[in-house]
Amino acid sequence: MSTYIDQTLKDLKAKNADQPEFIQAAEEVLTTLAPVVDAHPEYQQNAILERIVEPERTIMFRVNWIDDTGAVRVNRGYRIQFNSAIGPYKGGLRFDPTVNLSVLKVLGFEQIFKNSLTTLPMGGAKGGSDFNPKASPHTPGKRCSDGEVMRFCQSFMTELFRHIGPNTDVPAGDMNVGGREIGYLYGQYRKIVNECNGVLTGKGLPFGGSLVRPEATGYGCVYFAENMLKTKKANFKGKVCAISGSGNVASFAAQKLVTLGAKVVTLSDRSGAIYAKSGLSLDDIKAVMELKGVKRGELSEIAKQLKGVKFFPGVNSWQIVDKVDCAFPCARQNELNGDDAAYLLKHGCKLVAEGANMPSTPEAAAAFLKAKILYAPGKAANAGGVATSGLEMSQNAEHLSWSAEEVDSKLRGIMAAIHDNAYAAAAKYGHKGNYVMGANIAGFTKVADAMLAQGI
Ligand code: NDP
Repeated sequence: MSTYIDQTLKDLKAKNADQPEFIQAAEEVLTTLAPVVDAHPEYQQNAILERIVEPERTIMFRVNWIDDTGAVRVNRGYRIQFNSAIGPYKGGLRFDPTVNLSVLKVLGFEQIFKNSLTTLPMGGAKGGSDFNPKASPHTPGKRCSDGEVMRFCQSFMTELFRHIGPNTDVPAGDMNVGGREIGYLYGQYRKIVNECNGVLTGKGLPFGGSLVRPEATGYGCVYFAENMLKTKKANFKGKVCAISGSGNVASFAAQKLVTLGAKVVTLSDRSGAIYAKSGLSLDDIKAVMELKGVKRGELSEIAKQLKGVKFFPGVNSWQIVDKVDCAFPCARQNELNGDDAAYLLKHGCKLVAEGANMPSTPEAAAAFLKAKILYAPGKAANAGGVATSGLEMSQNAEHLSWSAEEVDSKLRGIMAAIHDNAYAAAAKYGHKGNYVMGANIAGFTKVADAMLAQGI
């Protein structure tokens, strides 16, 4: 490894010893940049690596809100504005008890490279709160009510509004922040600033949202995978696909795969996984979307209603398949470990496209790279969501709404460009077919060159 990268990592570990997830993510990215850093001494002369691993701004704030029993609750809110060299900060908000500074720094750091890859002018950021809309603070086993979620979102935005703006920072949704939460957040923002400037993306269609935004991450992941298959002169017809998760990304990936002729055999959630040996139909997937997105239920409730579907409690999608061609981890971070990777490879897996952020553990990622299968890291494969958010920003700026066909065709074009750029960057630095290196190098180079051009 380059001594410059080695030294940067040593300093980063000393400075962020309490942030193991962030150290892991920075190490994974920086170690893949050796060829490009060695070829460009000006990056070291201008301390590009030291600067790119340090957020431009970290905001932490208190969020007080009143629950349905009248009790005052206190959560912690965050916004990490990581890098704005190529455009306004852009990245999701996550509401989950696992949210902390280290996890958000991982996601914000990854977002810099992902946004750069989209070909659109967007910087990297991430934010959220340890608030858990899925667990009522006063009634065990119940979710927060709509009123509680609304009051939380209003209080969260009452601080966040002063740090964001359409040309400064444009947040979006992430885990547990969907259309409902974005609506409440935007309503409060608009009330405070008295402006309809579209400052959040993922908005409802009647108030500036983009068609195809809900579908974009799942569809985009499949489009990326389609481009990888094309390099082997193959397509999805008849391919057996395992998907984890059953939320936004997983369900639209499943829908697009079935439309393209693939056989989707698994989906999962916290309760367990479903397995359909002869493949889920579009109607089955619609029923899962209704269950998870509208009724907010568990997969364990639906298996009995769907023909030919078995439910396996408490497991993920991987080790229940007896043959698999492609795997799409679309649930959460670190959900596919080394054992899962070995199982998938042994059962025929030739393609892995990450719909979630960093779902493969380092051991799993290393196994996929060693086996030289088609392996797309999340920052490239799931960039369709943020790319379409960028398209939502463009539509808001021109006060226009594009048709679904127009947005979908732009999304397809962007995913093809991300694929081709990552493929070309890997090949240029002697690692043809390594999409992990290719995505990091292509994403990094654009931001690094913008930082160089703008001075210290
Ligand atoms: P959702 O909340 O809609 O879905 C998440 C899915 O993962 C649900 O099925 C959930 O199950 C499951 N899950 C979460 N935690 C666990 C767990 N501990 N064990 C088992 N299953 C679990 O999120 P999204 O689909 O929007 O996002 C999924 C991933 O994709 C995340 O990593 C997110 O950061 C990433 N991503 C999302 C984008 C988007 O546009 N939505 C864009 C880019 C990345 P349950 O319903 O039981 O909670």
